Amino acid sequence: MPRLSTTGIHGADHLHTVPDVTPPINISTTFKYTNDPDKLEKAPPGPFPYEVGKPVYSREGHPSGELVELTIGKITNSYAVAYNSGLSAVYAAYTHLNPKVLCIGQGYHGVHGIADIWKRNHGLKQLSLKDEDLDKLGEGDVIHLETPVNPDSQVFDIQYFADKAHAKGAFLVVDSTFAPPPLQDAFEFGADLVMHSATKYFGGHSDLLAGVLLTKSEKVWRELIDDRIYLGTNIANLESSLLLRSLKTLELRVLKQSASATKIAKFLDESKDKYPAIAKVHHSSLQKDEFVARQLKGGHSPTFAFELQNEDQARKFPSKLKYFYHATSLGGVESLIEWRAMSDNTVSPSLLRVSVGLEDVDDLIEDITEALKAV
Ligand SMILES: *Cc1c(COP(=O)(O)O)cnc(C)c1O
Repeated sequence: MPRLSTTGIHGADHLHTVPDVTPPINISTTFKYTNDPDKLEKAPPGPFPYEVGKPVYSREGHPSGELVELTIGKITNSYAVAYNSGLSAVYAAYTHLNPKVLCIGQGYHGVHGIADIWKRNHGLKQLSLKDEDLDKLGEGDVIHLETPVNPDSQVFDIQYFADKAHAKGAFLVVDSTFAPPPLQDAFEFGADLVMHSATKYFGGHSDLLAGVLLTKSEKVWRELIDDRIYLGTNIANLESSLLLRSLKTLELRVLKQSASATKIAKFLDESKDKYPAIAKVHHSSLQKDEFVARQLKGGHSPTFAFELQNEDQARKFPSKLKYFYHATSLGGVESLIEWRAMSDNTVSPSLLRVSVGLEDVDDLIEDITEALKAV
């Protein structure tokens, strides 16, 4: 089996239909039927029988989306279904599993937004990740685990929650956005479905919105594709071409971003005496639990958070930086910092979230040092 970087570049070579090295951007929403009346077939009863490689209408499937799914499937050793956002992927997971009870912890606010819609429309019961709540799971229910978690990249023990779910006949969905390949493979520790916001590290250039769901089961993959036709949440044509471009550099980007983030988190953690503005640094590399190294085999999350002494310092800090744009989101080649209170009302107002990009890490550390002096 070729390894990640090779697969990211060559994983779907056999599906190329023209000699172009970069598959052409294909924006067609509809595809011509055969001109031979004898070969025309009436639609059978039941759900639309979408066939990979035989595009009809782009909501059902299209060539660039299929190249993306095949490549990501090979990279992750699973079957991939691509969506028009990370949240569409989460919505599709819940639609497929249809839980009565959802155990969910701290994490991305948008996922809680989906859970609240399900509570409103379907009476979904939401519980925490505490043992006494996990014990209330029944057959077909769901644990939703985000690890490493937004915004502080704290790591949770995937195997522990997989065992808890499976003991009750429930399923474990892991949001692995903060640890893309090659950092973490949640399937190794028992996840049933793995989700990534491809807007972040898979995309990597802050220029596309997409999500993926991964499954080890071909049957589940087919069911997800069938649902997606009617949810109307297929990845868009143009975004697919951008994402294919991104997959070619996934490993290169993620490994460097991970190493730089680990170096910066260490620098901040060791500079608390010198720069008393630093109150606390949160990163998977600073977490001591034994399962952290076991899960994050390929390296630590390229996103982390730190707290300054007070809200005023945190509000000002981004304005003192040259190389970190003050913006939400993460995973791009450009470093970002966010005074996280801007988009999440559940976090400390003195917390800053940092997404480390591909700039030289020593330039980033010098930039942060100057900002620490300035607040
Ligand atoms: C961004 C993000 C999402 C949502 O993804 P979109 O592509 O914005 O829909 C879900 N989970 C995590 C951890 C994220 O960072």
